[in-house]
Amino acid sequence: MRHSMGHLASGVVEVVCGPMFSGKTEELIRRVRRAQIARLKTQIFKPSIDDRYHESKVVSHSSLSIQAVPVRNSVQILEKLLDTTRVVAIDEVQFFDKDIIAVVKKLARRGIRVICAGLDQDFKGNSFGPMPELLCMADHVDKIHAICTVCGSSASKTYRKPEEDCDEQILVGEGDAYEARCRTHWDAFEEDEDLLAFSLPLKSAHTKSEAVVNAQE
Ligand SMILES: [Zn+2]
Repeated sequence: MRHSMGHLASGVVEVVCGPMFSGKTEELIRRVRRAQIARLKTQIFKPSIDDRYHESKVVSHSSLSIQAVPVRNSVQILEKLLDTTRVVAIDEVQFFDKDIIAVVKKLARRGIRVICAGLDQDFKGNSFGPMPELLCMADHVDKIHAICTVCGSSASKTYRKPEEDCDEQILVGEGDAYEARCRTHWDAFEEDEDLLAFSLPLKSAHTKSEAVVNAQE
């Protein structure tokens, strides 16, 4: 074990995950703002793939924004890191390559507080990019929820509307193509008929959800 005498401050890795519209970016911005109030030098990075609103800003769905440095890969975070930085925030971390794990470890070893925000699952319910390993190695994990657009209960899934027939995992630009769903209303659209039949009694137990579904028909 190597212990550098100069680095007594201990780093920490925090991950905020959840479906789309759960407020992950808002939570990241909230933590960054608090660090800034504490006068800690903070740098925010985001993958340059996510240019839906603004090239150099992290913007949440509710239009909170903060300056961010777009990077093309994980290693660029280390290249662009300033010596004085104490807090590093990484938004849309699910889009990064697997090297992000090593980069985050390296930052934490330097005594830096690393705050990551990203989707834990894609719309199919599969884990997204480097998220499993990142969640595993993190010191603090918050899995936050959105609101199911069908029944109003807590939503942990991202649902893609059927008219979007593109099968790719990465579809940036969202808004109309996706919505947050609880497990029941996300599952109801799975192809497995047996699973569907199994989930029906659960659905009918949701009296509130039926009212909303009927209203939409
Ligand atoms: Zn629901």
